[in-house]
Amino acid sequence: EQRVAHRDLQPGVRHRPDARVGAEDERARAHARHQIARVVLDLALRREFDYQIPEALAHRVEVGARVRVPFGAGSRLGVVVSLAATSEHASLKSIEKVIGEQSLLTRNVLELARWMAGYYCCSVEAALKSVLPEAVRKEEAQWRERLYAYALPPERDGGPALTTRQQAVWNILEEWRELPLQELVRLGETTAETVRKLEDKGYLILAPRREERDPYAHERFLPTTPLVLNAEQASALEAIRGAMGPSEAPAAGSGAESSRTFLLHGVTGSGKTEIYLQALELALAQGRGGIVLVPEISLTPQTVERFKARFSSGPNRTLVAVLHSQLSAGERHDEWHKIRQGRARIAIGARSAVFAPVDPLGVIIVDEEHESSYKQEEAPRYHARDVAVVRGQREGATVILGSATPSLESYFNAKRDKYRLLELRHRVTDTRLPVVRIVDLRLERRPERGGGPSIFSVPLREAIQQRLERSEQTILFLNRRGFSSSLQCESCGYVAGCPHCSVSLTFHRRAQEIRCHICGHAAAVPGQCPQCANPRIRYSGLGTERVEDALHALFPKARVSRMDTDTLKRKEDYRRVLTEFRTGRIDVLVGTQMIAKGLHFPNVTLVGIIHADLALHLPDFRAGERTFQLLTQVSGRAGRGDVEGEVFVQTFTPFHPAIQFARRHDYEGFYDQEMEFRQQLRYPPLARVALLTLKGRNDDKVKFAAEHLARTLSDRLSGWKDLILAGPAPAPLARAEAFYRHQILLRTRAMARLSQELAAVEGELTLPEDVKLGIDVDPVDLS
Ligand code: ADP
Ligand code: ZN
Repeated sequence: EQRVAHRDLQPGVRHRPDARVGAEDERARAHARHQIARVVLDLALRREFDYQIPEALAHRVEVGARVRVPFGAGSRLGVVVSLAATSEHASLKSIEKVIGEQSLLTRNVLELARWMAGYYCCSVEAALKSVLPEAVRKEEAQWRERLYAYALPPERDGGPALTTRQQAVWNILEEWRELPLQELVRLGETTAETVRKLEDKGYLILAPRREERDPYAHERFLPTTPLVLNAEQASALEAIRGAMGPSEAPAAGSGAESSRTFLLHGVTGSGKTEIYLQALELALAQGRGGIVLVPEISLTPQTVERFKARFSSGPNRTLVAVLHSQLSAGERHDEWHKIRQGRARIAIGARSAVFAPVDPLGVIIVDEEHESSYKQEEAPRYHARDVAVVRGQREGATVILGSATPSLESYFNAKRDKYRLLELRHRVTDTRLPVVRIVDLRLERRPERGGGPSIFSVPLREAIQQRLERSEQTILFLNRRGFSSSLQCESCGYVAGCPHCSVSLTFHRRAQEIRCHICGHAAAVPGQCPQCANPRIRYSGLGTERVEDALHALFPKARVSRMDTDTLKRKEDYRRVLTEFRTGRIDVLVGTQMIAKGLHFPNVTLVGIIHADLALHLPDFRAGERTFQLLTQVSGRAGRGDVEGEVFVQTFTPFHPAIQFARRHDYEGFYDQEMEFRQQLRYPPLARVALLTLKGRNDDKVKFAAEHLARTLSDRLSGWKDLILAGPAPAPLARAEAFYRHQILLRTRAMARLSQELAAVEGELTLPEDVKLGIDVDPVDLS
């Protein structure tokens, strides 16, 4: 009898969503009226389907619920997007099953997905798919259950006799009261068999229990307290506090967008993160939560720690949840549900964390808002920064976009009072920004060695030497991995190209392979020219691998490490290299953009940019902006400690404005000059762009389809004065992964309207079967 009573008390589900009882009644009433659920299936059908809500599920089917429904001969998963009292269809099938204990989508996130489908010209199905992590969408429960042993109260007469071994195990459990079976077996140095005998004798009971994973379980976070802000920080936070309103939560949706979206323009090391932390604290005090977006590459343990340490130590351990693609599926599932259940109030993550079900939402922070990785390059092709601004507006949340080098779009919005501009002009520690020296590679040519400059100019070489002597650290940056960018025959000029893409293959010396950086195609290095059989093959162009080799040759004693996607295959690699660098076991770190972002190492006093022009010559109107940002970000890695930093920029175009303004740390100057160019050509931020790309295996067919589409568009949109249509033309990357690509570029100020038109055209358009159209609204990558 006792046992049965105890069984009822088993904490089978430990964490029930709390405080939803009131909502329960309301839902019951709603269901009295609504017997029909409108469902969007996980199939891109661009349609909603009506289903009957069976009596037994009435209390669980609500808007946002994930359900399994009959479809065709089988069944499918989908999302309930609305409820209705009647349907125009006669005999409806019934919902089979509701997934999860709670509707997965909040109303806010559901509405956001619908907005996204409209603006980014994609199906609602695709939008819905991207707002829920894969680990959460699955039908099978992802919770981890473990078998626990629970001690039962002793019987009055002391219970049946125990063997010595059983007694020893019982002594342990009697003390702990409950333990995972595995743990008890380990502590008691025994077997599960012995424990089961104890269960038979009525001493304990074994029952499964849900156990939540905590990816950071093994880390300790020393609690931090808010810092006393300096004057610049204080006035920035004051403005934010003003927008966030009094400590009790203001009504959602009140106030204009301009008063709630901030652009925090602060040089590297100016203390932006402290402002984020204090804004989050304000949101928590108002009973609201927050979302922090950082670029995937900056989602390091260091970054997570700063937020966990402030909010998530001791009893509040779950307050900060991290949504990271490198967590296991189970961990991701649990972290997400912590947010959905309201036990985590702050979500940190990359791009897709903008959809975290934080509710109510007080603040969204987008750090490094200019980063191109906020743009998703497959449908739905959303930009997380822009989605954040829209979401903030809809939910009455304050949005803080932070950067040392804001995107032209955001700075433009701040200038015309769409956003409010907050500036931090000084580094907190008052260390000066590094001195930037430009090295003109044209003057470094060595006619005696075929004309090209060496990898390290004389000044850079001397500077590295000096750092090695002083035991200071150096970072060398080059935005291309591999050894050399191409392999060319000295006799006939043959260049090894990818058979599937219109690019040349990069030579990787260690792997002795030539590889395509677009599609991954790899081949052995030819011993002789495949075209003319000449054995002499020349390597031209630089990659990080070659820089590393040249360093070894020049400074044999230096401890050199390389960091790019070739060397970092696993997440531990990244951590390991950074730890080695931090603890001074590496003198020189060579890498791609991976090392450009957010890393903070006080002992780095020298940064060398091996070839600053690489990004300048891309066929992209943002090439100058990218170069400026990159140079500024990389330079920001130098001189974060007591010693002033020095940066060497090696370039063939020393007078290019992007390079000159970066040298002077002059963002405003760069902005003004770049805006003139954008204005002349009516590029963003003065207009918005939609890029239509047609792809197919047959070049003529693709070209023909592109011409047909361009004609259709110009007929339909003729008379639209604000619209500029360019193309069709072969894409800069004319062929990728065996697909030929042609593009049409549209520019307008009225993108929401253009999106509607494009969706309509796409719906009516008949393309040849093997030609596909991709629509990219506000594209970041124009290749
Ligand atoms: P950013 O995010 O702008 O690059 P950080 O927030 O990383 O700058 O700040 C740089 C350093 O200055 C950090 O070590 C931070 O702890 C410290 N810091 C920030 N604000 C203050 C302050 N008000 N007083 C003292 N130290 C501060
Ligand atoms: Zn390829």
